[in-house]
This record gives sequence, C-alpha cells and structure tokens, in this order.
Amino acid sequence: MDIQKIRQDFPILSRTVYGRPLIYLDNAATTQKPRCVVEAISEEYYSVNANVHRGVHFLSQQATDLHEAAREAVRRFIHARSTSEIVFTRGTTESINLVAGSFGEAFLQEGDEIIVSEMEHHSNIVPWQLLQERKGVKLRVIPISDSGELDLQAFASMLSGRTRLVSIAHVSNVLGTVNPVADIVRLAHEAGARVLVDGAQSTPHIPVDMQALDADFYAFSGHKLYGPTGIGVLYGKEELLRQLPPYQGGGEMIKHVRFSGTDYEDPPLRFEAGTPDYIGTHALARALDYVGQIGLDRIADYEHRLLAYATERLSAIPGLRIFGRAPQKSAVLSFLVGDIHPFDTGTLLDRLGIAVRTGHHCAQPLMDRYGISGTVRASFAFYNTTEEIDTLAEGIERIRKMF
Ligand code: PLP
Repeated sequence: MDIQKIRQDFPILSRTVYGRPLIYLDNAATTQKPRCVVEAISEEYYSVNANVHRGVHFLSQQATDLHEAAREAVRRFIHARSTSEIVFTRGTTESINLVAGSFGEAFLQEGDEIIVSEMEHHSNIVPWQLLQERKGVKLRVIPISDSGELDLQAFASMLSGRTRLVSIAHVSNVLGTVNPVADIVRLAHEAGARVLVDGAQSTPHIPVDMQALDADFYAFSGHKLYGPTGIGVLYGKEELLRQLPPYQGGGEMIKHVRFSGTDYEDPPLRFEAGTPDYIGTHALARALDYVGQIGLDRIADYEHRLLAYATERLSAIPGLRIFGRAPQKSAVLSFLVGDIHPFDTGTLLDRLGIAVRTGHHCAQPLMDRYGISGTVRASFAFYNTTEEIDTLAEGIERIRKMF
C-alpha cells in the first residue's frame, strides 16, 4: 500500500494544529473522508438532487437509481443475500434502537432474556434497558477477562430457553478485542435465540460476510467507514424482517393508507419512514467503493502491523498500562500513563497536534469492570503511519517526564 499516495486522498490530513502537522488517531470515533466522498455529496446536490421513490420526473428517477444502487453496494460490501435485507438508518445507534423497538416490541415478553457483554458501547446497552422498562425483559451480561476477552463458558451457561436475543459487539471500541462472533451466533442459534452484532468497529477494519456469519441482525455506521455522518445500516435476514412491525410511521413505509387501517411496505422500505438521506447513501456507496479498491484484507493486514508497532512502542514506556491484550485485536490502543489523568494526557497530546480520545468512550460499565474512570485511546486507520506512532510515543514520554 502506498500510504503517502492514499494520504493525498484525504485533504484534512495535510492541515496543521497549533502549528504542528495533524496526527489524527481518533478513527474509532469517526474517520476522515476521502475527496471522492465529499465530491459525491456536492456532485449530487449540484446536478441530481430530487426526492426519491415518488417522482416521475427525470431527476427523481436518477436520484432513486443512485439511492438504490447504494443499497446494492452495501449488500455487496457485507455479502448479504438480497437488497431487501439492507435497511438504511442514521447509524449503529439507530439500527440497534430499531431492533429494540420493532423486534423487541413484537417478540419479547416479560421474563425473556437478552444477553449483552461487559464491553458493550452504551448504544448496545441503553436500548435494551429502555425495553426492560417497557416490557420487563431481563438483561444478562457476559463477563470479560482482565485481558479483555469474553468468557465464553459463562456465555454458554447463560443461554437457556428464556434467551431471546444475544446482542454483542464484533469489535470493542475500547479494547479492540475481535469477538468470536461466529461461535456466539452458533451457540445462540442452538439455544433458539436471535443474534444482533454491533459492527460499528468491525466494518472499517475487517471483511464481514453476512452469509458466512449467519447473524440475524448486523448494525454499522457510515461515518466510521470513511462515509458521511448521519447514514448507517441495519442488515436483517429477510425472513425475519418480513415478520417485524414498522419502527416509525410516515411516508415511504406504506403501501396504502386508509383511516380504517394501513398496509405497510415490504422490507426494507417498511423501516424507512420519511425522506431518506439519499445524498448520504450515495456518498456511503462511494466510500465503500473507495475502501473496496484498497481492499479490506490489505487494510486489515496493514493496520495489524500498525497496532503491533504501537503496542511495542507504548509498552516500552515506564508506567504505561494497556487495556485490552486479546490475541485477536483490531487497531485500537487504550492506555493510562502512571496515575496521570487521561484528560491531562489527551490535552497535552493535542498541543502536539495529536488527536486522541479520552474518557469512558461510551462504555462506562467497562470502565467500572477495570475500576477506572477512563482511558486515553489511540485508534488507527490505514492512512496512519509508524512515524505518527513514533511522535505519539515521544509525546507520551514528554508528558510522563513533566509529571
Ligand atoms: N457501537 C460501537 C462499538 C461504537 O464504537 C459506536 C460508536 O463509537 C457505536 C456503537 C455508536 O455508533 P454511532 O454513534 O455511529 O451510532
């Protein structure tokens, strides 16, 4: 991979911060956008813009074609069987809320159990807690080891006839752990439970294949995948989506509305009430195309080397503690330096032009598990370099000496 050439596709990477070259290591929060994605947005606004699905006129049909072509691009990217399985949402959070609102309302009852894990993002905890309040379902939590791996034995022993859903992150946004989701799907299915996989942190880094994985639902966000903000995806198996009631009501999701009762559209439109973000879907397709041209296998391989390099460099710093030591990890490195508050480390690194994230990373139960209030998190993308990691390590050394 020619990283210097790739970096030229991302104009923001050549800017400076406090007079220093920007080193952007906050990719787990959101990724930067290649020029082609930004251009896809302006091109469509300048020359195609019209509302989709409802118009007979030329522009509306062209916009509809681009929007539906984006659905096909997503289907290809995650190797789903059909575009009927691709629901556009605002992002992972909305995708999970959609499942909680629709599947949860229709299929779950008091006493039914949902299994999550200790390493989940709040987006994969709070929707289930809201359902708990509405319906009296029970939330059970898979513990993790000190190294940040799921306790699969504990998981297997939690599964029972009461388990209706297992909702689990493919990759942890704090620890980087790549969870054995295929095993989890198999075990859950043997127990008769459905599985939702939170793919917010997997889709940017590793190839995913819906047909091979066999999960019932899979959620992810465009903005973490080099696409625009405000667009995301819920994959759902077609036979399952067909059984689910709508999540929100409005235009686009109906076949026929009468005051005596309304017929709903088939999936995926049944779950897409209102004008969709058709500019966002088109730009997301451009992002997937861009990522596809580099190749997720090559991205995974390169980022793996970056992570190994960063782990080695940072481990050599006295007093630095890394959280997340699973053998299968994605490009995320969470750490604390001695007893320096993560906010201080982050603020001082910022002055050196280095953007990292500090705090609980929307995973407060995970922070409780480790008995900490937060960490510093450096998260990598394929446009990052070992030189940037050197600057990060030197910056941390300086901060450590200051304290
Ligand atoms: N799940 C995980 C593992 C995440 O890392 C994130 C975002 O950081 C989310 C869910 C929520 O994603 P979004 O804010 O794009 O809906």
